[in-house]
Amino acid sequence: MIGDYDYSNIIKNLGDIQAELNFPIGQKTRYKTGGNCSLAVFPKNESEFKKAVEVLKNACPYETVGQGTNLLVSDGGFSGAVILTERMTDTRQSGNLYIAESGVKLSAVIKDMALNSLGGLEFAVGIPASVGGAVCMNAGAYGKSISDCVRYVVSSEGTFSKKDCKFGYRTSRFLEDKTPIIKVCFSFTPTEFDVSEEKIKNYTNMRRNPKGKSCGSVFRNEGYFAGRVIDECGLKGKRVGGAKVSTEHANFIIADDSATSNDIYRLITLIKEEVYLKKQIKLSEELTYLGKF
Ligand SMILES: Cc1cc2nc3c(=O)[nH]c(=O)nc-3n(C[C@H](O)[C@H](O)[C@H](O)COP(=O)(O)OP(=O)(O)OC[C@H]3O[C@@H](n4cnc5c(N)ncnc54)[C@H](O)[C@@H]3O)c2cc1C
Repeated sequence: MIGDYDYSNIIKNLGDIQAELNFPIGQKTRYKTGGNCSLAVFPKNESEFKKAVEVLKNACPYETVGQGTNLLVSDGGFSGAVILTERMTDTRQSGNLYIAESGVKLSAVIKDMALNSLGGLEFAVGIPASVGGAVCMNAGAYGKSISDCVRYVVSSEGTFSKKDCKFGYRTSRFLEDKTPIIKVCFSFTPTEFDVSEEKIKNYTNMRRNPKGKSCGSVFRNEGYFAGRVIDECGLKGKRVGGAKVSTEHANFIIADDSATSNDIYRLITLIKEEVYLKKQIKLSEELTYLGKF
């Protein structure tokens, strides 16, 4: 037993599915801060993924993690199981449709798409993400978002057509109710390789990610640009422990090697308080959390 949950029995029920107790999930995130989860589960195909969810669903709290680029794990870790999608890497193309399992890197989809004379996702080049994470967050850039190219999503709760995915600005039903995404069917447009390649080159040149370890934008842009608002409050360069508001882009928090998740969280709280005090704007996070804060 760990806490209230019988993980040895859970592991027994998972059968052949790879699983590891007391796993350093914080180290899997872009920030590389935060503690361990009680159990990590690594399904390698759709049937293992479905079985893992069936086993975990009535046994303990569980969450799904992709590349960990938009995730802050509590220093106290997560008392529950995490399904990591990193072994879910199959892809299949049929005409304009492209099916990718949730652990496939978005960058690999974009490259594969161009090589197969398909286009539509070039704008997303440079967004570090797994397919599952990107679709759950409805990742986007330059006024476009990944949902533009989604045909349907296969989740542990069944298959959802695009209109039933409840996509919105950096959100979806999968983020709202934490339903694990198993695979995604994209619909792309026939595009000559040279055209896609040129677009990929242009979008790559346009991207300006601040230097240092970050999770991308910390706060959502909801009728205002969070970065501009934070800058106007004089918070660029503001530091808590090893976490600092980027001096290049105020919506980014840069963590140095000494940073803890608590430093990052305290800085986020400070920013929210200052912005509310000075501008009466209630910022809300795009960054997601795992564990207690
Ligand atoms: C330098 C940098 C630049 C960035 N630029 C952008 C940008 O331009 N636009 C943008 O939108 N984002 C950007 N981001 C943020 C990040 O890349 C995206 O949010 C990305 O979609 C997260 O994908 P992930 O696989 O890392 O998800 P994770 O960080 O692993 O998870 C994020 C959320 O998705 C959930 N999730 C992950 N996988 C699944 C799944 N299979 N099923 C259900 N839920 C799942 C998690 O539970 C969590 O709530 C940037 C990040 C960095 C570090």
